[in-house]
Amino acid sequence: MSKPLRCRIGWHKWVRRFNAEGSRYSQCERCGNDDGRGRPHWGAGPMG
Ligand SMILES: [Zn+2]
Repeated sequence: MSKPLRCRIGWHKWVRRFNAEGSRYSQCERCGNDDGRGRPHWGAGPMG
């Protein structure tokens, strides 16, 4: 199974997700690629 064309050119559809620790990170809705491997991307903080 190949990646969608848009993903292959680096145009992912990032969505916000939460890892097991409750931190936000981004993951592509199409191919499942994630950016940062669970590292907070929008700044995890008290406002969480
Ligand atoms: Zn993608």
